[in-house]
Amino acid sequence: MLILIADAFDASLPKRLAQFGEVTDDMTRLKDATVILVRSKTKVNQALVDQASALKLVIRGGVGMDNVDKKLCAEKGIKAVNTPRASSVAVAEMAMAFMVAIPARLIEAHTSMKEGKFLKSELKRTELFKKTLGLIGAGAIASEVARRAQAFGMEVIAYDPFLKEHPIAQLVSLEELAAKADVISLHTPLTDETRGMVNAALIAKMKDGVIIVNTGRGKCVVEADLAAALATGKVRAYGTDVWPSDPPPADCPLLAAPNVFMAPHIGASSKENLGRIGDEVVLILTDFKA
Ligand code: NAD
Repeated sequence: MLILIADAFDASLPKRLAQFGEVTDDMTRLKDATVILVRSKTKVNQALVDQASALKLVIRGGVGMDNVDKKLCAEKGIKAVNTPRASSVAVAEMAMAFMVAIPARLIEAHTSMKEGKFLKSELKRTELFKKTLGLIGAGAIASEVARRAQAFGMEVIAYDPFLKEHPIAQLVSLEELAAKADVISLHTPLTDETRGMVNAALIAKMKDGVIIVNTGRGKCVVEADLAAALATGKVRAYGTDVWPSDPPPADCPLLAAPNVFMAPHIGASSKENLGRIGDEVVLILTDFKA
C-alpha cells in the first residue's frame, strides 16, 4: 500500500506510518497511492481524483473538509475522513491570542516601538474582564475558547442553532448575540448557511466598536462589508487567521482595511497539534482495511 503525504505534517509521521506500507511525499506517484494525507493546501477535487486511480482513503489532517470533495469521493468509493478533535486547543489558543492582543494594543505597541516611537499616551487599552464574548458556533474549538474566556472574567454567550444547551455559554439568538457581545469569535464550518453570515445587515445589529475574531473560515464574512465597517469604526478591529483563499488575493479588501490583525492560517499549526494529528492518523490507518 502506498501512502502519499501531500501536505505538511509532523516530521515524525513518515517513520510512524512505515508499519502500514510505503510512505512518500512524491506527488508524481499520485496514481499509485492507496491513501493520501492532506491538510489545507492540497485540494481533493475532480482533477486530483482523476489522476488517483488506486485511491481508497483520504485523510484530512484537521477539522474543516472544505478542501475535500466528499460527494465525489463517495461516488468513487473513496473514504474521506478528518481528525476532528486534535486541533481544538491549538485553534482556541489562536483565537485567545487575538482576543488578548487586540484590546491590549500589543501589536501596535510592538510595531510602533520597532519604528522608534514611544506611544505611551496614545495607545489606550481596554480589558476583557466583565466584557461579553459572543461565540458564533459553539462546538469543540468554541468550547475551549469559552473556558479560557471565563478565566478572564468574561460573560460567554453563543449562537448555535444545532445545540440545545452548552456547559459554559448561554445560548442566544444571533440577533441577541450581535446586540450584546463586545467581542465576537467565529467558530462555524463553512456551509451554505454560514457563508457570508457576517455581512452589513448583521454588523448593523452589533455594538459600536465591536471586535471580531475569526479562526473559523474566511468566507463566513463578507469582506467588503466588514472593510467598510472597519473604516467607519463600527467594527473596532478584526483579528483573522482565515481568508477567502490561502493566501488571499492581493485585492482582498481586508488587506488594506484599518485595524485588521492578520495571521496566515496558522491556528492549527502548533508543534503539539501536528503531533496529535499524527496520533489520529495512526489510529485511522490501524482501522483501515485497503
Ligand atoms: P465543531 O463541529 O466541533 O463545531 C462547529 C459548530 O458550529 C457546531 O456546534 C455546529 O452546530 C455549529 N454550526 C454549524 N452551522 C452553524 C450555523 N449556521 N450557525 C451557528 N453555528 C453553526 O467544529 P470545531 O472543531 O469547533 O471547528 C469549527 C471550525 O473551525 C471548523 O469547521 C473550521 O472551519 C475551523 N477551523 C479552523 C482552523 C484554523 O486553522 N484556523 C483549524 C481547525 C478548524
